[in-house]
Amino acid sequence: LAEVASRLRQVAPEEATVARFGGDEFIVACPMDGRAEAEILALTMMDEITRPIRIDEDRLEIASSMGIAILPDDGEDLDTLMQCADLALYRSKVNGRKQISFYDPTMSRNLVRRREIEAELRLALQRDELSIFFQPIIDLESGRVRAFEALVRWFHPEKGELRPDEFIPVAEETGAIVRLGEWALIEAIAQLSKWGGGSAAAGGASAGADDPFTMWVNISPVQLMQPGFVDLVETAIVEGSVSPDRLGLEITETALMADAQQALETIDALKRIGVRIAIDDFGSGYSSLAYLRQLKADIVKIDRSFVSDLDTPDGHNLVAAIVNMAHAVGCRTVAEGVETADQYRALKAMGCDMAQGFWLARPDVAQNRRPQLDRGAPQPVSR
Ligand code: C2E
Ligand code: CA
Ligand code: CA
Repeated sequence: LAEVASRLRQVAPEEATVARFGGDEFIVACPMDGRAEAEILALTMMDEITRPIRIDEDRLEIASSMGIAILPDDGEDLDTLMQCADLALYRSKVNGRKQISFYDPTMSRNLVRRREIEAELRLALQRDELSIFFQPIIDLESGRVRAFEALVRWFHPEKGELRPDEFIPVAEETGAIVRLGEWALIEAIAQLSKWGGGSAAAGGASAGADDPFTMWVNISPVQLMQPGFVDLVETAIVEGSVSPDRLGLEITETALMADAQQALETIDALKRIGVRIAIDDFGSGYSSLAYLRQLKADIVKIDRSFVSDLDTPDGHNLVAAIVNMAHAVGCRTVAEGVETADQYRALKAMGCDMAQGFWLARPDVAQNRRPQLDRGAPQPVSR
């Protein structure tokens, strides 16, 4: 802390005030000629802080995030200015470390909404406002349902249906995802059991709707890092009387970014109890080939953004390359967000294993019977 403080003082202008605000937060306040100058100063400070620090025999590397607010544009008084700088800082942290952000008014509006969601999310579970929808995943070879993805829905009494993209990130930040995720897992397993979740080998002999299938549940990186997560999954499987090989967990690559070692160990332990693992949103994040091999996932889910680009030659080649790459390391592939017959045909022709998307079936509430395809089995196509 002392070293960072002295480095900040060295690069800050003469008339600047440099203060430690608490914990590991610092404030630099000084007159500026404009945004450009503020940005240059911020970048200089960032470089200074990032330079390794030597203390005794240890070499420390520090990363920082910064938020900038400017008087009088962003606020008339000090309190407002500090709040704005804090919101900008928050944006930097969300975007990943080593970021610099300027305050903009949408940050305040988002904050109000977030606070509301945060407060109401705590009650949502108790009030029974959450439910799970299921979206079928289709085998491209046979055209049959091979799996379902469990997707959480929040029906808010005043705000109406809230999108998971809006409340899952809030739940992750506040830790509410731990309870929400556990609830979703148990609900999905209960549904799996109702639809016949015994071991795959014991699946019904009759064709079509009674084929054994896998129930896929989304797992947040926060959940994965919780001590005892593997036990929790194991208990849920036992109590739900389903076979572990009928349950799949979808994990995004970002889960590996925070602490790859721990994440990989947890995933290994999950595989040892027999559940399946999918890499979700493949291609949208860091998509490290090393992780792809190390993880030995069962399934790679190709992100929707690639599928929507299938009609361009480059887009087509890219998806084909991902399919081949996944097959090369022993993973099967699911294409997400299939919205047209053309996409479906292209995926089938290139040897992608499974597909999921609005063209096949939208996520829906669970009925007593397993949901069927919206349009029956898709027309077979020749390769
Ligand atoms: P995801 O895991 O990528 O889930 C697939 C999303 O794509 C779902 O959005 C689904 O409704 C949507 N989708 C499916 N087919 C199509 C299509 O053809 N076109 C388009 N445009 N979209 C399609 P949804 O249900 O809104 O969920 C959004 C995200 O929220 C999920 O993305 C997942 O990351 C997260 N999520 C949902 N439920 C849970 C949960 O129980 N736990 C956790 N941790 N995350 C969840
Ligand atoms: Ca998913
Ligand atoms: Ca996905």
